[in-house]
Amino acid sequence: MSEAITSLPSEVDQLLQRLGVPRAAYTGGTLAVRSPISGETIANLSQTSPAEVTAAIARAHTAYQAWRNVPAPRRGELVRLLGEELRAAKADLGLLVTLEVGKVPSEGAGEVQEMIDICDFAVGLSRQLYGLTIATERAEHRMMETWHPMGVVGVISAFNFPVAVWCWNAALALVCGNAVVWKPSEKTPLTALATVAIAQRALARFGDAPAGLLELLVGQRDIGEVLVDDEHVKVLSATGSTAMGKAVAPRLAGRFARAILELGGNNAAIVTPSADLDLALRGIAFAAMGTAGQRCTTLRRLFVHDSVYDTLVPQLAKVYAKVQVGDPRTAGTLVGPLIDRAAFDGMQKALAESRAQGATVHGGARVEDIAGGAAYYVRPALVELQDHAGPVLRETFAPILYVVRYQSLDQAIDWHNAVGAGLSSSIFTLNMREAERFMASNGSDCGIANVNIGPSGAEIGGAFGGEKETGGGRESGSDSWKAYMRRATNTINYSTALPLAQGVKFDI
Ligand code: NAD
Repeated sequence: MSEAITSLPSEVDQLLQRLGVPRAAYTGGTLAVRSPISGETIANLSQTSPAEVTAAIARAHTAYQAWRNVPAPRRGELVRLLGEELRAAKADLGLLVTLEVGKVPSEGAGEVQEMIDICDFAVGLSRQLYGLTIATERAEHRMMETWHPMGVVGVISAFNFPVAVWCWNAALALVCGNAVVWKPSEKTPLTALATVAIAQRALARFGDAPAGLLELLVGQRDIGEVLVDDEHVKVLSATGSTAMGKAVAPRLAGRFARAILELGGNNAAIVTPSADLDLALRGIAFAAMGTAGQRCTTLRRLFVHDSVYDTLVPQLAKVYAKVQVGDPRTAGTLVGPLIDRAAFDGMQKALAESRAQGATVHGGARVEDIAGGAAYYVRPALVELQDHAGPVLRETFAPILYVVRYQSLDQAIDWHNAVGAGLSSSIFTLNMREAERFMASNGSDCGIANVNIGPSGAEIGGAFGGEKETGGGRESGSDSWKAYMRRATNTINYSTALPLAQGVKFDI
């Protein structure tokens, strides 16, 4: 075991101290946090009790009642300060993401950059939040719409984007006039503590934000359930597995709360005969192996046209055989560890099922000599299937890329759309008809459909989310802000008459 790995808990401690997290928040508690880099326990957090959750939500509700009256551009000033504090903390928070989740450093830093980007976006938005003015059928009347805050926005986040998802939600929710209560993944609460410490500095500089505007809940699924069921939580943004969404959605519907669901993906790409194969190779490699296959947008299924299959797939197999798997802090590493043993077991199960159905499996074995038995490093797996059937139809949250040979674009698009999830997708082609068909209504059924870019690595300017079992939610750019506000339609009569709509008469 290397020197760097044995000193991991103290490195985490130093980072948390630099980021301004009080030591009492991550020592002596009952929630053990392990780093996937070595499998060591790096902190023990105190968990929020259900009674404390309810109190935190009540504080947030009170904060919202004051915050909604603050002009939106002034609310934007808080988010501008948050962006400044994140810029100052980018290196440390990015490294903490690496240590807690196992991402390579450029991806850890990239996640913080995404937070900064959405802050910038939200600051601009704080001077917009437009409603329409609409032509009315009645003389001397005006009809318009106004957007108002919703209340408390709950955020439940997954382990694999431990901080960016909060910021996508919080930056928009705050400028829209809401308070935010966050339940991060129980696997990655340290980066959440650090993020809240950073946000506290922005709040202190802002000066007069109401107490309770940003609350953090530390704990497991049961704590998330309290958040889901609390009547003050008017919007619940839940990011995680489809199984989680299936549990959460009916509870929210039962009390008519608004849900933003960002659930699992089973993303695919199509490589057509005209594709630039060098570019496709690079796009596929990053999308399928980056973040060790643990992105919601990871490329998991690849449909390659018969005419280019025997050129592209052997090249891909070579890239898979040589990509550097290891401690993410080691120079040259592109594939870090799986988050835990359950992820490793899920991957091995899917590979065994694939072999049983006659697939050719390249890679996929555990790499034992990196950090001892408590860490789970694997060679990424490339699985050549005869048929689009079996485990390829479900999301396995690990670096497995299933490859299937196709003959016609119609067949590829049928397979593409034949899974439960509908998050992200792409086509590699230089043929305009194929590209347009893929993006058309009878093409990809996903929330994201790219051309000559892999499915992963979205920018914050676009709306992010997917259809079907991905949950239908949209976050981040475009008009996603509308999910954090309620719309009032206002009709104003400035005449002395009272004409009724649709010519209705009611003369008294
Ligand atoms: P997970 O579903 O196990 O947990 C996610 C969060 O939900 C955690 O905070 C967990 O405590 C909470 N939770 C689980 N069950 C709950 C319940 N019944 N009530 C309330 N809270 C509950 O997911 P994970 O393993 O952390 O993350 C991986 C999954 O997340 C993958 O399926 C991935 O595709 C998905 N994901 C989706 C997006 C997206 O934007 N669509 C982004 C990141 C991850």
